[in-house]
Amino acid sequence: MKLSSLLSRFSEPETLKMAKLGRELRAKGVDVIDLSLGEPDFDTPKHIKEAAKKAVDDNYSHYTPVPGYLDVREAVCVKLKRDNNLEYKPENIVLSTGAKQSLANVILATVDQGDEVIIPAPFWVTYSELVKIAGGVPVILTTTMENKYKITGAELEAAITPKTKVFLFSSPCNPSGSVYSYDELKSLADVFAKHPEIFIISDEIYEYINFVGKHESIAQFDAIKDQVIIVNGLSKGYAMTGYRLGYIAANVDVAKGCEKLQGQFTSGTNAVTQRATIDALVGDQTPTHEMTKEFERRKKRVMELVSEVPGWKLAEPDGAFYVFPQVSYYFGKSDGTNVINDADDLCMYLLNVAHVSTVTGRAFGTPDCIRLSFANSLEKIEEAYKRIKEALAKLK
Ligand code: PLP
Repeated sequence: MKLSSLLSRFSEPETLKMAKLGRELRAKGVDVIDLSLGEPDFDTPKHIKEAAKKAVDDNYSHYTPVPGYLDVREAVCVKLKRDNNLEYKPENIVLSTGAKQSLANVILATVDQGDEVIIPAPFWVTYSELVKIAGGVPVILTTTMENKYKITGAELEAAITPKTKVFLFSSPCNPSGSVYSYDELKSLADVFAKHPEIFIISDEIYEYINFVGKHESIAQFDAIKDQVIIVNGLSKGYAMTGYRLGYIAANVDVAKGCEKLQGQFTSGTNAVTQRATIDALVGDQTPTHEMTKEFERRKKRVMELVSEVPGWKLAEPDGAFYVFPQVSYYFGKSDGTNVINDADDLCMYLLNVAHVSTVTGRAFGTPDCIRLSFANSLEKIEEAYKRIKEALAKLK
């Protein structure tokens, strides 16, 4: 029996692979500190949990409409107006089982065999793989640490070909933490205005974890709004990764396409989660702001800790909860047993010797970096960097 050729066309997420290796080591009794995972270490805010409990008691146990309950999609519209000053109607919104499914929906709804999808690197691990699943061609645009891993309008323009179908990016970015300003987005929007055939997938899942002020969405530019597909969800800003709620805001044709796909894949997302979504999006936002303040406090300390690691170079993250240092200083070094040839080797070395799990930059299209999360307690973070420094000191 032979499995499909599709399975060999894409990789499993490196983030989940590292978490699995960490768990295996932990099962053997090793005290592993996990800096590999991308989820807030906070509990879901109380008022949201109460809403979920009430939904269970109110018997929200049936199939839901494929794009989501109308009042939940209305709540998404209220959020988009309140936070982003964007006008959308419920028919523009499709709820799904996480931003990951929303991304899968929109990529399958827009990308044909051989279409090019421009993705600035570093990028979230899943982007390139979803494009491959759809039969598209990921076109990776490299960026520089000097420009905080962001692309300019001129760089974008130079990458566009007659085959370009989609541009896909996140701001705030996982893994670099870079955040595009109004002016930077405007320079990209001016280029897209000349290419109305290109879709822009704007992944804004880290919207609330922003240390430089107001979140800017590329959908605010009227000339290109119809081209933009906003992807967002509750996982990061509301500490609700396990609830699985993502959504898109897009033109009606895209929304209908996503609804059609989702109708065959999963149907409407979890009823209980949807009821809690209203309270998350239009209820008290204080816990979200508090979590962001805590991430910022940790970021400040992590910046100091990284600066004490010999050879690591870093662009300060303006959002999300990761640092993404350049670590190539250690390539070619050895502790006598382990030789570090690349970022993959360094991550394995840190896991096996320092007992700290991190993720290789190769998975994010930037092979001279590694990603370390600060979604962990400051106590664990301090201990992790102490161990990392000790392990790296052995490499000559
Ligand atoms: N987009 C980015 C940039 C992410 O980092 C993640 C999760 O790590 C997702 C999307 C997926 O989020 P969700 O939990 O809503 O599927």
